[in-house]
Amino acid sequence: MSVRVRFAPSPSGYLHVGLARTAIFNWLLARGHEGAFVLRVEDTDRMRSSDEHTQAILDGLGWLGIDYDEGPLFQSAGVARHRSDALRLLEAGKAYRDFADPASVKDEAAERGMHPSRVARERAEQLGVDQSEQLAADGRPFAVRFRVPDGETRFTDMVHGDMRFGNDDIDDLVILRSDGTPVYNLAVVSDDADMAITHVIRGDDHLSNTPKQVLLYRALGLTEPVFAHVPMILGSDGKKLSKRHGATAVGEYEAEGILPDAMFNFLSLLGWSPGDDREFMSRADIIEAFSMERVLKKGSVFDVDKLSWLNGRHIAEIPAPELIEHLRKGATSLANVDSSLIDDDQWLTGLVDLLRARSRTIRDLVAQAEPFLCDPFPFEEKALQKHWAKDPPTASDRLERVLARLEASEWTATALEEGLRGLAEELEIGAGKLIHPLRVAVTGRMSSPGIFDVLTLLGRERALSRTRAGVERIGAL
Ligand code: GLU
Repeated sequence: MSVRVRFAPSPSGYLHVGLARTAIFNWLLARGHEGAFVLRVEDTDRMRSSDEHTQAILDGLGWLGIDYDEGPLFQSAGVARHRSDALRLLEAGKAYRDFADPASVKDEAAERGMHPSRVARERAEQLGVDQSEQLAADGRPFAVRFRVPDGETRFTDMVHGDMRFGNDDIDDLVILRSDGTPVYNLAVVSDDADMAITHVIRGDDHLSNTPKQVLLYRALGLTEPVFAHVPMILGSDGKKLSKRHGATAVGEYEAEGILPDAMFNFLSLLGWSPGDDREFMSRADIIEAFSMERVLKKGSVFDVDKLSWLNGRHIAEIPAPELIEHLRKGATSLANVDSSLIDDDQWLTGLVDLLRARSRTIRDLVAQAEPFLCDPFPFEEKALQKHWAKDPPTASDRLERVLARLEASEWTATALEEGLRGLAEELEIGAGKLIHPLRVAVTGRMSSPGIFDVLTLLGRERALSRTRAGVERIGAL
């Protein structure tokens, strides 16, 4: 039997990182077993669902590189089947009509210390089948409730092992509301069976729904899938991850400059491990190593520092053409980008290779690339104050000497370094006293990659003209 899994988000919000992790585990199981990954949008809650949210979820999956083999299918398209499954149970006597007013049922249940659904069952039994048919034929509205059989419900969960629930603790759930709409627990069973889903992998917040669903599979004579309930994602305080802990939408991490492969890598390690000490892993490594057997029961903490560290690792390893694409996209937010540079793949390769080891996010990379890509480029006030404005005559004199030395130099990192270090020796000062004012002139910053690499990347003409402009600018201080 080939593996068929589904990802079944409700489009009532953005793509939450917990939901994305559920999608990843499903996708990994499918990809590791040449199975099918089906996307089903559970849009039956019309009030809370929106096309915008559906789109946000599709965009998030697309960004994470989670492709689907079937779908997106919409749960609302299956309502007629959901209804007919409910009616099938009614005809078989495995469900009953509930005509009662919910408030009166609730009151009686409270009085008698019973579960409301058992009161509803009692009333249905008192009414009898014939009268129930008659009332329905007269057009009296009713909900359909599933009659939970006696005994206990057992199933095996791939993460939690053998599960047992006493049926006395399971309420006779409404499967069809009085307005004729099916409820989640029925729709999900009907759909998963219809789509021949073999494995249902979802968050363990659904664990309490599963015995109800298992009972429905059995009552309907449908084949049960294997269930796997994966642990919640926790915030740093050990509580369920929420906005209080920071960004929870996948899209927010995209905007912060996290790479999709890094996010994928990070999320895959929340509740799963490859069984060795690897953490930085490519998508192919993860597909190869993934197995449901290594999914943990315990919740795992969403550690933003680890995400940022992993992202840095991915930025360090990603092929230059891909990193250039990210840089180009990010650079659209910069002012005064030199169009000849941003189109020059070869030059950009040098740039990203110079900056990638210093960047933890794409945002970082773009910020560091700004003085290289832009003309004019901004100057940090702090850098101006520290290296030029404290003693302008000295700074100006030194930068002028540096300029003369650079002009006379061959334009390689080694030659430039020799020239500058030679000058520092002649002046009997530390090389830093020359390098800092020069760095401010060519990058506007307090810090940058090694100055000789910066000079070679900028190229002779650009670097010299920036140094000249620096001399003039100090003169005007
Ligand atoms: N639409 C449900 C949710 O988003 C799906 C649950 C399931 O996978 O069965 O929670």
